[in-house]
Amino acid sequence: MANKYDILEISERAKNDKETGSVVINGCVGTFRNDYHVLISFPSVSEYLTKTATEYLNYSRILGPKPYLSSVLHWLFNNDYQEITRNKNILEAGTIGGTGAVFDVFKYLGDNSGAVILSDICWPNYFTIARQCKTTSYTYPLFKDNKFNLKGLEDSIIKSLEEHDIVLIVINDPCQNPTRYSMTDEEYINLFYLLNKYNTKAKNVDIIFDIAYIEFSSKKPILYKYLKSNYNFNVYLAFSASKTFGIYGLRCGALIGFMKSKEENEVVTDAIADVARGSISSPNAGAMGALTSLFNDDKAVEDMRNKLIEERNYLKERATRSLQILKANSIDFLPYDSGFFITIKTSKNAYALSDQLEKMHIYLVPISDSLIRIAVCSLSINEVEIIP
Ligand code: PLP
Repeated sequence: MANKYDILEISERAKNDKETGSVVINGCVGTFRNDYHVLISFPSVSEYLTKTATEYLNYSRILGPKPYLSSVLHWLFNNDYQEITRNKNILEAGTIGGTGAVFDVFKYLGDNSGAVILSDICWPNYFTIARQCKTTSYTYPLFKDNKFNLKGLEDSIIKSLEEHDIVLIVINDPCQNPTRYSMTDEEYINLFYLLNKYNTKAKNVDIIFDIAYIEFSSKKPILYKYLKSNYNFNVYLAFSASKTFGIYGLRCGALIGFMKSKEENEVVTDAIADVARGSISSPNAGAMGALTSLFNDDKAVEDMRNKLIEERNYLKERATRSLQILKANSIDFLPYDSGFFITIKTSKNAYALSDQLEKMHIYLVPISDSLIRIAVCSLSINEVEIIP
């Protein structure tokens, strides 16, 4: 087994346990399900997947079809599209989920003796991807006094720049996995200030925003406000169609880059095309094609946006109720704003505790020695009640 505590490995154990007849509580994977464990799906997505099932059987362009990429930008930025994209050197690539987008940039860094900067509490797969890409990673404690730890991040930037000329900060915002923390306006100002401060002629500090949960934020993404400005570093976005459109297994996403120059855009785009050709060959034409058709239908887009609001509220209700249950049982948890997960603080070792819970057929994800993540997105309230 590659890693006993990898989320998909834990989920596999839960599935096997269930197959032997056990009543299992599977709170490990970030897939959004209703109270009966059926994946939340969206009628417009199902409609277009069905309609276009045999339409996109050919290979896709290595970097993904241009109409798909353009539609993703419009979907994301919507009314802010003009202001965000004006006068920018935009890199666009279709990818195998948000994972593929993160992989592409980490690989580029690894191939150029660069490094990535991760927070200690994060989506654990970043570490796996960095390892796969042979990219050095630096970490800093995510929180200080319950706020985003900018000082810790700055220390990591300084340390990484002593050994590397190109580094990439990885920020998963809004609704960070697993804490669900969303950065404030002031934190964004300070983050962009840091980026400006440490970018020099000899040193490059770039940033990737992993926006996998952007549609599950209760507020308009603050990030967009800062994307509108001009910056002298590369800003990447890792877009995932998995969570937003409920198509996890179709492996569909995109890498979007706001590149500091046309030349830089060409260099990175060529490198990423080469990585894609030599690994996945080309992204999933069927999934990208179905989404492009949906994006071309204004009514379907409107339905999709409305349904997302409905589902977000449904999840919020379940999470609020879950927090009440935890509180009533004196179980401490990290600040929760919105999103798929709640992270509880443990006084016992979280890995040992998770092992014990597994023996009771409860499958959760230990994130560090004292934190366990509960995927409220895929549990019923009855199940949450059993966990305490
Ligand atoms: N980023 C974060 C923070 C995630 O939690 C996930 C999936 O759980 C992903 C990216 C990857 O999603 P996908 O590759 O399915 O788009």
